[in-house]
Amino acid sequence: MLVNKDGDGIKDGMDCFDPQTVFSDRVDEPVGKHVGVETHHYWMELALAQAQQAAEQGEVPVGAVVVCDGELVASAHNLTITDSDPTGHAEIVALRRAGQQLGNYRLVDCDLYVTLEPCAMCVGALVHARINHLYFAADDPKAGAIRSAMALAAADHFNHQLDWTGGIMAEPASKMLTEFFRSRRRAR
Ligand SMILES: [Zn+2]
Repeated sequence: MLVNKDGDGIKDGMDCFDPQTVFSDRVDEPVGKHVGVETHHYWMELALAQAQQAAEQGEVPVGAVVVCDGELVASAHNLTITDSDPTGHAEIVALRRAGQQLGNYRLVDCDLYVTLEPCAMCVGALVHARINHLYFAADDPKAGAIRSAMALAAADHFNHQLDWTGGIMAEPASKMLTEFFRSRRRAR
C-alpha cells in the first residue's frame, strides 16, 4: 500500500516535494528503475491519493503528479473551492508547484499523471509547460480535451507536441468521481 506523504502540505498550501524525503523509506522499490505499466500505476496511485484528499475536503476528486527523470517533483489536487480559484484544477496547481520546485517555467522531460482527462484550460497549460507525456486515468466525456469533447493535443497550431496515454487505472479514478457526486447529491 502506497502512503501519500502530502498530508501536511495541504494546510499551508505548500505542496512541493523533496523526492529524497518522499522515497527514503521505500528503498526496496527502486522508483524510476523499472519501466512500463508498473511504473505508470505507481505514479497514478499517487495521483489517486491526491484525488482522495480532494474529496475529503469537499473538492471534486481529481489529483495530479509531475514526474521528472523518475522522481516526484510536485503533486496536487483540485483547489478551486478552497482557493476560490477557477483555475485551481489539479493539473494547473501541480504544474505551478513543479515550476517553482525546479526553478523553471518549462518542464521539459517531465511527465504529468492526472486522474481525469484534462479540460481545454489544462491541455493549454500542459503545452505551455512543455510537458513531455501526459498520462490520465478516466475519460471526461463532457469536458475532456484530449479525446472526448475535443482533441486539442492533436491541434497543429501548438508549437509543442503533447504525447498522451489515457485509461491508466481508469476504474478507481472514475469510481471516486461517481461516488463523490452521488454523495453530494444525497447531501442536498
Ligand atoms: Zn482542467
